[in-house]
Amino acid sequence: MITGAGRGIGAATAARLAAAGARLVLAARSEDEIGAVGEMLRKQGASVIAVQADVSDAASAEEVMEAALEEFDRVDILVNNAGIIWPLEEVADVDPEEWLYNILVNLGGPLLFTRNILPLMLDQGYGRIVNVSSHGAITPIAGASAYCAAKAGLDMVTRASRWKWRAGGITVNGFYPGMVDTAMQEDIRSVDTSESRFDTSYYHDAHARGELLPASLSADLVYWLVGPWSRSHNGEIFRVEDEAWRERVRSDLA
Ligand code: NAP
Repeated sequence: MITGAGRGIGAATAARLAAAGARLVLAARSEDEIGAVGEMLRKQGASVIAVQADVSDAASAEEVMEAALEEFDRVDILVNNAGIIWPLEEVADVDPEEWLYNILVNLGGPLLFTRNILPLMLDQGYGRIVNVSSHGAITPIAGASAYCAAKAGLDMVTRASRWKWRAGGITVNGFYPGMVDTAMQEDIRSVDTSESRFDTSYYHDAHARGELLPASLSADLVYWLVGPWSRSHNGEIFRVEDEAWRERVRSDLA
């Protein structure tokens, strides 16, 4: 089950896991995007359902779970990937509703999906949960207080989970993908700096220098995190710039 699977890291992860033989449940708000990803993967022989959902909404999260069980009977892997960057404004300027919606999506979404899936995984005696976090969790980004707060909270959920479910065969890990060439980075570069105090120059420069990472790299890292190679890791946060980890992933997946 992959949230935010309509584009970017989620879509690349769906393709990676489908190629490895996984049956997939794709969720996101844009029905056309997850529909298109599902269609493409079905043509390649994968078994896929696409369920339109807003991860911040409890009823939506339950509908995804119900659809998954109806189609596949079990869920072994949950990738909490859906995320938004907005609002990108200083605390003093920000619309509180927009701020809180960010928290509901980036932090509340993983909580709802994890909560729904846990009883099933405990019954199965097996489960792999990956929380897609961000450097924003540990590096304050001026103007992105909601995003940073939500990702910091998500890391704490990941870490706090380590004691609880290991005995039930479930592991929960998170990772920081780095700056990835997706719509989220386009969103950041699109900020009108004459209207917002958010500074986009760092992101424009990285893009201009060709430094953005491909989503396929994140997909490989998720594959490693849900595969047998990571079984001794639980409640940990991995970082893409950790060369030793990336080398291990490269060699394990080779
Ligand atoms: P993206 O291309 O914008 O894709 C985000 C996905 O999440 C889309 O499928 C989007 O679909 C879905 N989504 C957003 N809000 C949702 C909601 N309320 N309910 C359901 N689905 C929702 O972004 P991305 O770069 O691939 O980001 C994926 C994850 O990586 C995010 O958690 C992000 O924070 C993290 N990340 C990205 C970067 C980066 O540089 N790109 C860096 C660090 C961390 P809809 O809009 O149709 O719902």
